[in-house]
Amino acid sequence: VLIIADLSKCIGAGQCVTFAPRCFTQDENTGLVVVGNDVRDEDSRSSVEAAVLACPSGALRIEG
Ligand code: SF4
Repeated sequence: VLIIADLSKCIGAGQCVTFAPRCFTQDENTGLVVVGNDVRDEDSRSSVEAAVLACPSGALRIEG
């Protein structure tokens, strides 16, 4: 699962962290999304898909 995060769109809303806490965190200072290391796990896909749908700014997409 390759996650692309467009930081120019991210507004730091944090829904992605809520839906897929193993895959996303937020930068301490800026609040912008940080894509974690745990995204190769196929079990993460459904939670990542939920996060993509939940993101209010359309900053996330999945490739592959
Ligand atoms: S849900 Fe979207 S806008 Fe919110 S922190 Fe995640 S990527 Fe950024």
